[in-house]
Amino acid sequence: MNLCDIKSIRNIMQAFGINFRKELGQNFLTNKMVVEDIADACSETNNATILEIGPGIGVLTKELAERYDKVISLEIDTNLLPVLAYTLSDFKNVEIINKDVMKTDLEELLSPYFEKGQVSVCANLPYYITTPILMKLLESRLPFEAITIMIQSEVADRLCAAAGKSDYGAITAVLSYYGVAEKLFTVQADNFIPAPKVDSAVVRIKLYKEIPYKPKDESLMFRTIKAAFEQRRKTLSNALSNGFSELSKDEIKEIIEKCGHRADIRGERLDISEFVALSDAIADKINSSKN
Ligand code: SAM
Repeated sequence: MNLCDIKSIRNIMQAFGINFRKELGQNFLTNKMVVEDIADACSETNNATILEIGPGIGVLTKELAERYDKVISLEIDTNLLPVLAYTLSDFKNVEIINKDVMKTDLEELLSPYFEKGQVSVCANLPYYITTPILMKLLESRLPFEAITIMIQSEVADRLCAAAGKSDYGAITAVLSYYGVAEKLFTVQADNFIPAPKVDSAVVRIKLYKEIPYKPKDESLMFRTIKAAFEQRRKTLSNALSNGFSELSKDEIKEIIEKCGHRADIRGERLDISEFVALSDAIADKINSSKN
């Protein structure tokens, strides 16, 4: 059964009486080489467990099942369950779970597999919910070996941008706190059915085993990043003034200069270690004003 062949996909869907659900981001891959490359890239260990999000009709799931010990796939669309039971009937190492990833307790689901060995995430993500899913995976703090995801190409550029580049944003800084993102390859829109409006790209995020940054107050660091990018066209000092009403404009300028930056610098020039240092200085100032 060739799950990449457009005619076979249409036949399968017709036989099961289902349609593509745009609202669930259902754009299925039709290029076997792309599917194989994603499956190859997502883990360095064959005995790994792979968490897949959104198996669709099982095209990537099948390639993952052929390469790795165990595949756990979360699919929100109940209509796809009989299809998956059919397309993946040869694979005993696949577990399909009919759940919304956003409502799934990943720690509870995956802790037995972390005890056994490496766990990685691999997914052709539904585009309507890419960032929330990625943030959920990162904020879970689960020790994934890697997170390999197909996403819109422009989102991929944002995730992988260096500080100071136009694509660099809050999500880039936050992501670089947890690990290192690499854009592996781009995939044109005509490799999907139905074809999305934009091209896609595969990004692999290798998570740090231990986060190398040690902010004094982690939530204050995330607040600093959020404030810095909330008003992109503003200087860092103006953006932080808006985000930290408990500090005066002069105090913010003093903090920025103390961290070795000009007061008129823009937030997008700071990499994650500089955001950590900046948020430490903000934490010190807030605490000293309290005493
Ligand atoms: N893996 C298949 C492929 O590559 O052809 C399908 C990928 S398609 C872009 C995204 C899949 O995610 C669809 O099967 C969709 O039903 C599923 N999905 C959408 N939202 C979801 C959610 N919140 N939780 C789990 N699965 C979801």
